[in-house]
Parts: sequence; C-alpha cells; structure tokens
Amino acid sequence: MIIVIKPHTSRAQIDEVIAEVQKLGYDPRPIFGTELTVIAAIGDETTHHRLESLNAMPQVEKVMAVQKRFKLVSRESHPGNSIIDVDGVKIGGGNFVLMAGPCSVESEEQLLSTAHAVKAAGATILRGGAFKPRTSPYEFQGLGSEGLRLLSLAKKETGLKIITEVLSERHVEEVCTHADILQIGARNAQNFQLLIECAKSGKPILLKRGLSQKIDEWLLGAEYILAHGNANVMFCERGIRTFETYTRNTLDLAAVAAVKKESHLPVIVDPSQGCGRADLVRAMCKGAVAMGADGLLIEVHPHPAEALSDGQQQVDFADFASLVKELQPFLQAVRQTV
Ligand code: PEP
Ligand code: MN
Repeated sequence: MIIVIKPHTSRAQIDEVIAEVQKLGYDPRPIFGTELTVIAAIGDETTHHRLESLNAMPQVEKVMAVQKRFKLVSRESHPGNSIIDVDGVKIGGGNFVLMAGPCSVESEEQLLSTAHAVKAAGATILRGGAFKPRTSPYEFQGLGSEGLRLLSLAKKETGLKIITEVLSERHVEEVCTHADILQIGARNAQNFQLLIECAKSGKPILLKRGLSQKIDEWLLGAEYILAHGNANVMFCERGIRTFETYTRNTLDLAAVAAVKKESHLPVIVDPSQGCGRADLVRAMCKGAVAMGADGLLIEVHPHPAEALSDGQQQVDFADFASLVKELQPFLQAVRQTV
C-alpha cells in the first residue's frame, strides 16, 4: 500500500504516520519529494486493508493499493487465455461459441423448434430461461421446474448443451441437474452468496454484468467464484444503463476489450439484452466479434411478436441463420494475422 501525505505537512506529522504504519505491523519506507511525500507500507498483503484506517489521520491525503484487488481472474495469475470445457464444447482461447434460444422457455413446441433451428444454423449451446427475473411481479415469471424439464428434453433431442439462469441459492441444486452452464443474471451480479453457491457446484458459470456495474466490480464478482474454487467462469457483457433510451441498454463493447485485457477468462456478448432491439442485434454481433469476444448469447424465438418476454429483441429463425452466415467473414478476420 502507498500512503500519500498532504502537501505542507511537517516532518513531525509525517513521523506520526510512519509510527502508525509500524504499529499496524508494516515496514514503512518513506520517500520525501520536493512537493509530495509518500510512504510505502511493506508487509502482509492479505491484511493490507487495515492500513485504510490511516485515512482518518488529517495529514494523510489517501491510502492506495498498488496491486489490483482481483488476483485469480487477472492475467497476472494466468498469462494465457483460459479455455472452458463444457462437456466437450470449448469456449475461449480461439474457440468461438454460439449460444442461442428463447428468452424464456414457454412450451415444448416453442423450445424444441428453436433448439433444432439454432443447431442447424451453427449454435452448440441452447439458452432458455426457466426462472425469470422480471421487473414487474405481474409479468411472466417463467415455467420454473417444468422449463428445466423441457430444456433437458431439448438437450436429449438435439445434443445441444444447456445454459439457463439460476435466480436464487435455493435453485442451485435443481438447476445443476439440467444445466451445463449456470447463468447468473445482471440483477444478481453482486449477489455474493449466490455466486459462492454456484461456485461450489463446480459447474461452468456465465456471469452477466450488473445493470450499473463498473468493470472492476464485475471482475471482483468473478473473483468470488474463483476464490471459492471454481475457475470455469465466463463474463457476459449485456449492456449497461446510460442516459440513452433509444436502445434498452448501452452495449459496452469497450468493456469487452478491457476485460479481455485484464483477465484470462472468456468474454461472451449478449447483444439481445445489450440493445433490446432485434433490428440492431446483427450489427452488435459483428462489433462483438471485432472486439475479441469469445462467443455470443442471442435470443431467438419462432414468433418474436408472440413471445412471453423480451419479444422486441428476439430474432426469428431466418434472421438468426442469415446473421450467423454474415458473421463468418468477421470471425475469419479476427483469426487472421497481419
Ligand atoms: C436474459 O438473458 O434473458 C436476462 C434476463 O438477462 P439479464 O440478466 O442480462 O437481464
Ligand atoms: Mn431476455
């Protein structure tokens, strides 16, 4: 930790801080500049937050951590790209993945027809919400356990792997018996108890970005999962809240590049929640690929206008198939070396 002393502080007051650093069990190394004095506190990094109490001293400007707070998710701890193996489907490190399916599982007919359509177009993972986090309690809340059963049926029929959201700690065990990847939704991105329970399951986890979550907070959310023994984590950028209302959210493609820079874990982009408009999904997919995303999570519905949730942002089968085709040159371009 670095302790920055306020300008015009007397030597006696600086010595008071040095003495406090020593009292806390750290080795103080002051650096006296012409304008600024800083004290490096050397010692046990696992307890260095205790030095933050020095902020209470009037002569202290600020106490700063020199190391990043996220460690296990950081490239410093794992310089290469992590590859997540979802029962044979590899994600990351040059393995691009297409996850697609309806926002919500609505019926057997709806889910199975979608599963076949997205598989034919190139998807290897089927998405579908069984437990839905809806803003209003009067909106469709998902089929729950029946939705999970239908997802298992779709897996049996098509061989697609399954990703579905876990809304609550109470559902982790049940969802794990049907899902290959646990989706942690934007509204639960900082539900740390849920993150820990999902981590303990050992299943691969897709961690959405919170509605108004800063990038370092998102990285720390993933750090919870890794710190609890599960390194099979993917980030999912799904747009953030901004002043703009033309789009439902603002898809933050800079965050994709930033997280890829900071972390070895794969980053997936969800253009559907990301812009909330079916007519923009295709362009967002191209942008995501160009930005280095390791995969896409796209909402696809047989009849978007009749969907029980997020109808405005779901693409139909034909749209999905042509979108995937149009993406090919973009995928090839990012794999090419100059
Ligand atoms: C979804 O994927 O349908 C969903 C609810 O996503 P988010 O948590 O990103 O809003
Ligand atoms: Mn949705």
